[in-house]
Amino acid sequence: MSSEKRDFYEVLGVSRTATGEEIRTSFKRLAMEFHPDRNPGNAAAEDRFKEVAEAYDVLSDAEKRARYDHFGHGQQGFDPFAGFGGAATINDIFGEIFGEVFGAHRRGQRRSRGADLRYNLELDLEQAAFGATSRIEIQRPKRCETCHGSGAKPGTHPRQCTACGGTGEIRVQQGFFAMSRTCGQCRGEGKVIADRCADCGGAGGVAEKAAVDVRVPPGVDSGTRLKLRGEGEPAPSPSGEPGDLYVVIQVRDHPIFQRQDTEVVCELPVSIAQAALGTSVDVPTLDGAHKLKIPAGTQPGKTFRLKGKGIAPLGGGSRGDQHVRIQVEIPTKLTKEQRDLLEKFASLSGEETNPAASRFWSKVSEILGK
Ligand SMILES: [Zn+2]
Ligand SMILES: [Zn+2]
Repeated sequence: MSSEKRDFYEVLGVSRTATGEEIRTSFKRLAMEFHPDRNPGNAAAEDRFKEVAEAYDVLSDAEKRARYDHFGHGQQGFDPFAGFGGAATINDIFGEIFGEVFGAHRRGQRRSRGADLRYNLELDLEQAAFGATSRIEIQRPKRCETCHGSGAKPGTHPRQCTACGGTGEIRVQQGFFAMSRTCGQCRGEGKVIADRCADCGGAGGVAEKAAVDVRVPPGVDSGTRLKLRGEGEPAPSPSGEPGDLYVVIQVRDHPIFQRQDTEVVCELPVSIAQAALGTSVDVPTLDGAHKLKIPAGTQPGKTFRLKGKGIAPLGGGSRGDQHVRIQVEIPTKLTKEQRDLLEKFASLSGEETNPAASRFWSKVSEILGK
């Protein structure tokens, strides 16, 4: 691996006498060019990015650079597993150079950001369709007013951890490999509090119920995640930014309507007489009753479309349609009089009354040769 390694000066495109500023400028340009955020899924760019970061790690450090100048790749003790096995180190270097530019996209490696929170919000179909404002109550720690989040007794300050020197990590050399583990003394915080704040016990925050107004846009569906920027937990340090609140939507089942994305489907039961004679029905829609004319002779399963009575897509656009599917209900209990009338009706019925049945039975006759 070492033998194939390109010269670090070559990698950064600088001369061997380059100043720290020249090295930094060159690194910044190349890192921008090959940054994974700008080259998603591009393995070659990722390799180049790592190569550039590794070169910068050595050349930006006077001591490492001197060692490299003297001994080259093989002897200067650079261990890829220690320095660049994990993305965190690259991002640390990167964050140091670019500050917030890309750093804000990366989670986990910035300890100064507050944690994200999640809240499951149940909505009626109408609320999901038309949008709503919903006040939710979340359990969210609030920065302690007494110590301003430091966790230290007023007048005192957290001290840099002596075990790890404030990095939060302990380097362990195991034979050829160098590894790092979270510092036990400060639990990775890099700081220790000698005199704890009495109000928060050193946590820097106190649990609190917070009311948050969630503006739900029209068109959300089960599983939609709304991001409320900055409504998550506060940052551990006063200068850090708070986390985000993710509101995850769950739409309740509707007693009448079924939803299919932007379409609304409902079954409309009608009687035999209504289907045969035709009728006019006030069909429920998300906007209220809508008059639907059902023509005489409407068959079961026939679907009527109510244009624009569905749901608008999330993010805007015109509303989908409502589909009304006809169910013809066959009476299960008949009075004597009803039975007599139906029998009379049957005796008066023929091919013209039931054309589908007539066609079916004539085909059956053909097949059976009768
Ligand atoms: Zn406190
Ligand atoms: Zn420590």
